[in-house]
This record gives sequence, C-alpha cells and structure tokens, in this order.
Amino acid sequence: NLLQPTAAVDEQEKQEESLRPPRLADYIGQKELKEVLTIAIQAAKNRGEPLDHLLLYGPPGLGKTTMSLILAAEMEVSCKITTAPALERPRDIVGLLMSMKQGDILFIDEIHRLSRMAEELLYPAMEDFRVDITIGKGQSAKTRSFSLLPFTLVGATTRIGSLTSPLRDRFGIIHRLRFYEPEELSQIVLRTAEILKTPITDEGAAEIARRARGTPRIANRLLKRVRDYSQVKASGEITQQIATDALTLFNVDPLGLDWTDRLILKSMIENFNGGPVGLETIASATGEDSQTIEEVYEPYLMQIGLMQRTHRGRTVTPAAWKHLGYD
Ligand code: ADP
Repeated sequence: NLLQPTAAVDEQEKQEESLRPPRLADYIGQKELKEVLTIAIQAAKNRGEPLDHLLLYGPPGLGKTTMSLILAAEMEVSCKITTAPALERPRDIVGLLMSMKQGDILFIDEIHRLSRMAEELLYPAMEDFRVDITIGKGQSAKTRSFSLLPFTLVGATTRIGSLTSPLRDRFGIIHRLRFYEPEELSQIVLRTAEILKTPITDEGAAEIARRARGTPRIANRLLKRVRDYSQVKASGEITQQIATDALTLFNVDPLGLDWTDRLILKSMIENFNGGPVGLETIASATGEDSQTIEEVYEPYLMQIGLMQRTHRGRTVTPAAWKHLGYD
C-alpha cells in the first residue's frame, strides 16, 4: 500500500530527510502559507522574538514537518521533532520544554492526540513560557513553577476538529495545507529526480505528478518506484511511457487511485448502491480502519469529486461510477 508503508518505515524516513527542501524559497506551492510565514518571520526577527505558535493541519505528506524544519532554518534556531503519543508521561514533555533554547521550535505531530495532562502542561508553557509542576501527593502536594526560554510550538494534525478549543486558541497562526496542483508536483518530482540523479523527461514527471494524489510524499514515493522499474526494464530514463507502464503495473490508476481507494468506492457502489453510507459501515465492508479512511483516503476522493459527505453519510458521485466502469 503506497499510502501507508509499514515495513522499512525507518529507512524510508531517512531517505525522506534528504529530499526535504531546506529553505522557504525551495518549498514548492502553498503560496498563501509561504506569504503568511514570510511576514511572520520578518516581524519576529525585527522584534528579536520567537515566531508565534503555529498550527498546521491537513492530510499526511503535504509538508507540515518540512515547513517546521524550514522555519527553524529561516529563524536560525533548532527544531525538535516529536509526536503526541511520545509525550504520554508529564516528565516527557517537561523535559523537552526545559531543554528548549531561546527561540527554538518544538514540532509536535498528531497534536490532537496529546493526553489531557500533557495538554495542561502546555497551556502555561505556550502562554507565559512557564511550566507548573506538582511535587508530592495528596495534602502535602506543592506546585512549583519553572520559567522557560521563549520558544515556538508548531503543532501538526490531520484532524483539526479533534483539537480542544483551549489548545487551538493558543496558536497565533492556524493554517490548512491544501493538496498540490499537478504543476507543483511536477516541479517537486523534477527536483527529487535531480537529487536522486535520475534522468527524467518533463512529460515523465507530469505523469507521476498527475497520479500522486496532490501529495508530495506520494509523488516522491512513486518516482522511486518508477525509477526502479525504468532501471530494470528500460534505459533508465523516465519517460511518460515508462511512468505510465510502471504505475499501471503498481496499480496506481490515471487518477492516482490505488487498490484501497478503488475497493472503498467499489464496495460503496456494489453493496450500498453508491450510498449514503456511514463511515463505520464502509470500514467494515472494506476491512480498512475508519480513521485511515477518514484522514487518508476520503480527503482526496472528495477533492477530486469522486465522493461526497452528506449529513446522512458518504455518497459516491456519478464521476466515480464512470471512472470505475459502471453505468
Ligand atoms: P507531513 O509532515 O505533512 O506529513 P512532510 O513534511 O513529512 O509531510 O513531507 C513529506 C515529504 O514531501 C518530504 O520528504 C518532502 O521531501 C516532500 N515535500 C513536502 N512538501 C514539499 C514542498 N512544498 N516542496 C517540496 N517537497 C515537499
């Protein structure tokens, strides 16, 4: 499954690091976000203060972590990367906060999954750069406050709706990342191909871009698989024909749908006559996890107009029936 690799994730992450654009000028697309952040960076620098806390939301692979690292580079500070489930115990988050240097960036992925305790420790940290720690138990318990150096929290989430409002309200900038246009993804593919020293034509890059579900991470992943194919089956250069043949072999269709996308749509059509059908029902009919459907599959299917959400459930659009070859 191209969207959710489980094996060799570490290796893939390492490779991903080398493909991240290092500076704002190299970050392709998300024009509005870049504009907002360019101003925020300049203003913070002029005042000699850290950036405002920033919340980025949107489907996985659109460049949230990358943007956080870029902000650190632009502000000339370091960025610590963690994820909410790793901050289970209060001391995990306290230790992290106390280790932050002036202006550093703390990136917390999946921030909607913070435990209540971790979240409550974050409020004064975000607001007053302070942590309150309770020492001892019961009647003899005392609260002590420690001051922190001013820092910037960058939170990332795929589910903005699952954030508590006190947490959401403490972010100065809240921005949604959108799916990328094919031309933007083409540029990303060309850039990655250059880093990987893989010859590719503009048409080859465009074909990969079209099938990348608007997502840079997927574009890079498809490029690597097409590169393997072309090195084994052809001269090594990625042309449109090679990209088409390879992606067809890997079950990525011309709209970028993979096996699971098609399974979801097919089961909605065949079992429920196209809907409306509830998320949990789709999950059990397809054997996919409902959260994954909601956060990973559905956003793109809706984006390209193959699925709709109504108050009665999800429905498949006529375009989806047609795309899958039904009347
Ligand atoms: P997220 O944190 O939203 O899941 P990442 O920041 O990890 O996504 O991005 C995934 C990969 O996609 C990165 O390795 C990076 O190379 C690439 N990428 C993301 N956004 C861009 C962009 N705007 N320009 C170029 N490459 C990008």
